[in-house]
Amino acid sequence: MDVSHILDPLNERQREAVTADNAPLLIQAGAGSGKTRVLTHRIAWLNQVIGVSPHGILAVTFTNKAAGEMRSRVEQLLGLSVAPMWVGTFHGLSHRFLRMHWKEAGLPQGFQILDSEDQKRMVQRTIRAMGLDESHWPPRTAMWYINNKKDDGLRADHIRDEGDPNEQQLIAIYKAYENACELAGAVDFAELLLRALETLRNNEALLNHYRQRFQHILVDEFQDTNTIQYAWLRLLAGDSGYVFAVGDDDQSIYGWRGAKVENILNFSDDFPDTRTIRLEQNYRSTSTILNAANALIENNSNRLGKNLWTDIGDGEPITFYSAYNEGDEARFVAERIMEHITSGGLRSEIAVLYRSNAQSRVLEEEMFRNGIVYRVYGGLRFFERMEVKDALAYLRLLSLPEDDISFERVVNQPPRGIGDKTVSQIREVARDAGVSLWHACAEILSVNGLKGRASTAVGNFMKMIIQMRADTQDMSLEKLVEHVIKETGLLEHYEKDRTEKGQARVENLNELVGAASMPIEAPQDAGELSELDTFLANAALEAGEQQGSEFDDCVQLMTLHSAKGLEFPLVFITGLEQGLFPSQRSIEEGGIEEERRLCYVGVTRARQRLFLSMAEHRRLYGRDHFNTTSRFIDEIPSDLLMEIRPRMNVSKPVAHTPRRQTIREDNTTGLSIGQRVMHAKFGEGIVTDYEGQGAHARVYINFEEVGPKWLVMAYAKLEVMNTV
Ligand code: ATP
Ligand code: MG
Repeated sequence: MDVSHILDPLNERQREAVTADNAPLLIQAGAGSGKTRVLTHRIAWLNQVIGVSPHGILAVTFTNKAAGEMRSRVEQLLGLSVAPMWVGTFHGLSHRFLRMHWKEAGLPQGFQILDSEDQKRMVQRTIRAMGLDESHWPPRTAMWYINNKKDDGLRADHIRDEGDPNEQQLIAIYKAYENACELAGAVDFAELLLRALETLRNNEALLNHYRQRFQHILVDEFQDTNTIQYAWLRLLAGDSGYVFAVGDDDQSIYGWRGAKVENILNFSDDFPDTRTIRLEQNYRSTSTILNAANALIENNSNRLGKNLWTDIGDGEPITFYSAYNEGDEARFVAERIMEHITSGGLRSEIAVLYRSNAQSRVLEEEMFRNGIVYRVYGGLRFFERMEVKDALAYLRLLSLPEDDISFERVVNQPPRGIGDKTVSQIREVARDAGVSLWHACAEILSVNGLKGRASTAVGNFMKMIIQMRADTQDMSLEKLVEHVIKETGLLEHYEKDRTEKGQARVENLNELVGAASMPIEAPQDAGELSELDTFLANAALEAGEQQGSEFDDCVQLMTLHSAKGLEFPLVFITGLEQGLFPSQRSIEEGGIEEERRLCYVGVTRARQRLFLSMAEHRRLYGRDHFNTTSRFIDEIPSDLLMEIRPRMNVSKPVAHTPRRQTIREDNTTGLSIGQRVMHAKFGEGIVTDYEGQGAHARVYINFEEVGPKWLVMAYAKLEVMNTV
């Protein structure tokens, strides 16, 4: 049989892995060394040469997208459909299993899946039904506890009671929640895995059936499997199955979510006769990029160690741009992207990576301004995120209480005891009387049309909105947004959520305050709009446009975490600042090695060009940060970096040069840093920065009364004050 299409595109080591005899196999290799390629070719080999039916192959990868990609690559290699193959994420495959074996799993046939919001509501109902005080037992915290235990394979009954009253209560909530889910026939994400594992473990016939069926189990990104995923693999493989695991300890980036990189170390013990193969040639990146990655990761002490090389050639130096603020950084990114496009490059060849979700806002704004089609990969665009939409809905209500859509969105968000029944009642009155929901509320209240608690809750909601309208009359937009996210309880609501998602939501809300502190241009033909309405109109515009679909040619914006496994000719890593990347938390809590691995993942996504950037002054989460360069930049040998300074295109080695001059040569504002100015609305302030030219020139002024602000020179009408 001609197997050249399977073996020719591989080097010798890779071939060895693909054609290995049946035995557990661990491929421990660095980024871009062809691990994923080897895994797909192994599937083709098993099918075409060994004669394993697609029916007998199970492959697990990290995302649905990767699973789709793997399937199509295998189909291409084989020239036939591999639909019966089980390829997916751990969650996806567990789900498939439970749908087929709902009976054995003790579930109703049409069991419901709870997404994290549904799960939170279910936990909340449980807590209330137990008569507990939600402020003491926030649903998010309980949910976090439950999911962690499930990821460790523990049911409420299995948790050892150590006598800690706090934990005892959480265990009781977990138990009551389990019962509630059982009654409702509902399954949360963590449950999918746990339930599949238990079903297999408790049903010998079923387990034997699947062990016989899936003799070949292949796992990509093995370094990021957690306890329960690993248990699932071991159970399914048993003594007769062959696990083919590929991973890179240097790319383990989900320790904070329970991933156990030790699984790589334990593999050989748990699967006797394991063969380990190392791949050392990188086929992805130029040697400049690879050397930078190697030098960076060498600073980690906890590694298995490896030696990665490439023969692709040096390529271009890595560009490091130290911007003076986040807007300047975003502009730098956009300019480079446009250069690439005008010279015939594709948008889809570019990825812009960031550490924190909230950083996308400024980048998105700049993409939008320059008409660059982009897509936020693995997440929502800033103005489409739930918490941002909540806050915008409140702002719309302030501007126009008759806005029914906004009213419905936030009347019970955060929860304030206005249930679905009450809202339907209000809706009915509004429909009958042909008025807005807001007016309907007033009407119902005036005739005492609601029962006690609901009536008080609706009354309080209206009072809150009216009060906020009065309180914010003379506030700057920034203060107004800040006031609204606090007074409505939104911020506090999300602060209670201790999960990473909850934290990102708090950051996004604060970032919205940041957005409000920036000067905004009124949309064309908008007529006379208040500052708030202009802001809302811009938010609506940005949310609605330029989102490329999956198949369009668009620039990909994503967090460093979502970039795992992917590759792009051009990669930007933004925000390389101490406290942002590495994150403050990692610095304080000793998680620097995982941050460094994340940086290593980012750097090794790049094939030809890598751009790194930082902002010396960043307004993020609504706060000002004055930053020093990330230690990761210092860990990259300076001869691999070319530093570009704002506007002046000076390149020089980056090693510990004193940071930036105070006055730049491109200043066309007529003002200098340190100058005192007077603004009609904001009063006196001091110029601390400026950027842009001509009509677009902006100055950053620290006002005594209202704090720092960016203003457009053309509109600001500043009066220069004598400084003597
Ligand atoms: P990561 O650690 O980032 O997941 P990986 O080890 O899975 O990387 P792949 O994505 O499989 O690496 O391969 C990296 C790139 O190198 C891909 O573009 C792949 O097609 C290419 N490649 C892999 N092996 C070879 C080879 N033998 N010859 C030519 N190109 C190769
Ligand atoms: Mg890979």
